[in-house]
Amino acid sequence: MADYKKEIERRRTFAIISHPDAGKTTLTEKLLLYGGAIQQAGMVKGKRHMRHAVSDWMDIEKQRGISVTSSVMQFEYNNYCINILDTPGHADFSEDTYRTLMAADSAVMVIDAAKGVEKQTRKLFKVCTLRHIPIFTFINKMDRDARSPYDLTDQIEQELGIKTYAMNWPIGSGREFKGVYDRAAKKILTFTAEETANGKHQVEESASDLSDPKLSDLLGEDLLSTLKDDVELLDGAGADFSLEDVRRGKLSPVFFGSALTNFGVEPFLQEFLRMTTTPLPRKADIGEIDPMDSHFSAFVFKIQANMNKAHRDRVAFLRICSGEFDRGMEVVHMQGGRKMKLMAPQQLMAEQREIIDHAYAGDIIGVFDPGVFSIGDTLCASDKKFCFGGIPTFAPEHFARVSPKDTMKRKQFVKGMTQIAQEGAIQIFQELNGSMEEVVVGAVGQLQFEVLEYRLENEYKVDIRMENLPHEYIRWIENEGLDPKSLDLTSDTRCIQDLKGNHLLIFVSEWNITWALQHNHGLQLSEFGGAKL
Ligand code: GDP
Repeated sequence: MADYKKEIERRRTFAIISHPDAGKTTLTEKLLLYGGAIQQAGMVKGKRHMRHAVSDWMDIEKQRGISVTSSVMQFEYNNYCINILDTPGHADFSEDTYRTLMAADSAVMVIDAAKGVEKQTRKLFKVCTLRHIPIFTFINKMDRDARSPYDLTDQIEQELGIKTYAMNWPIGSGREFKGVYDRAAKKILTFTAEETANGKHQVEESASDLSDPKLSDLLGEDLLSTLKDDVELLDGAGADFSLEDVRRGKLSPVFFGSALTNFGVEPFLQEFLRMTTTPLPRKADIGEIDPMDSHFSAFVFKIQANMNKAHRDRVAFLRICSGEFDRGMEVVHMQGGRKMKLMAPQQLMAEQREIIDHAYAGDIIGVFDPGVFSIGDTLCASDKKFCFGGIPTFAPEHFARVSPKDTMKRKQFVKGMTQIAQEGAIQIFQELNGSMEEVVVGAVGQLQFEVLEYRLENEYKVDIRMENLPHEYIRWIENEGLDPKSLDLTSDTRCIQDLKGNHLLIFVSEWNITWALQHNHGLQLSEFGGAKL
């Protein structure tokens, strides 16, 4: 096998998703610990709670390096080359998460054992199912009082609509947490609180099987007999395990553990790596692109501005989809229609950014963006050109009319708005026949307006006037050539256009959408303005 193929085959690229506080940062850190990418827990600076998300964002702004290193991390473990994509937990940034998931081949869903499935878990899970990627569940915080494992797995099945298969089963919880039973190996991994010392170092896990006479001393009669009953019940009633269903995103393998104390993390990692997929093929306009194809291809899934404030630069994050990347190679930026060299390609390890010479399908690299890339753009080799399907945008739910306070600052305003929109943080619309001096901005979360205002002032030196609009729903008009002025609409429905000139309507309530459809025969509306998946 060609060397580049061997490299691709050992790549595993996944995202970790969770409701804030379930333990995503802690689990990520422990995975890095096993991979030797960090020596001691406590080194990955998380975004903390995002309670003050805007001020956090500003802090992040000040410490860009941190936010970036925590967004993509690569490490080696047992000859696998692993790329972890971190995702913001805050609901207002779910679009960011959504795009990040487009770059992942599987997802790990972290669930708090006391809280079960939470609001953000549901939302993020939905995005994963859109892509049919494998989803693994890590039920965390078993060292605390937890809900019954039956309740937890039932809830996942009922609320998220995916079958589950418990790979291991917890023995007690909270103070009584003794460890887990590994169902395939038929072994018990015992948890010893003293050993873990708050999970600062890797823990040794000791194994014994159910017939071991020492177990009744170790677990106590009650826990042991509950465990024996549970195992019988699971093996008897439970569905069969199917790796194929896992790979198709139809069955989620469930692991119980405690990231903080490090318990169950390494067995999870090993099983996860065994079951998850190598880099997946991607759909493009010429058909599916095989990751093993020798021609390089990649798409932009994230753009981050001003990594270095002094230089005002941007970094575009690329997911390599096929072939091998060599530093200095020439590629074609399909949307820009020109050849270019990717400048300063970098890969991100827990604490450092490194300039890289080679990267392979499955990898995520950051490249210098001179302001030409947009989310979803394709880069490919000049002797095999095609475009990947774009990344559909979330329908914004908040709208505001925005203009510069000082009309002399028009140029900076337009530049700032356009660049921030290219990064995908907001969407900009115009009034019909409108100019760029006053635009309608759509955002998925209210916080994005605050971030917009902050960034325009700080990065582009423009103060803005912002007037919130009461609209909450957006629909693109699908009928070609339809004159929107001819439509019969309620007085609070507005017609605007996107920057490509497509017409769309914004509504204050769903009732108004129904009204529009009933009073305009043949009107076709769609929720997505972006490309199809
Ligand atoms: P994130 O918001 O999902 O990234 O969550 P964090 O990893 O920041 O964890 C949130 C809080 O839960 C922190 O105070 C962690 O120390 C704590 N935590 C994480 N995992 C565990 C665990 O397994 N057991 C216990 N007791 N606490 C945990």
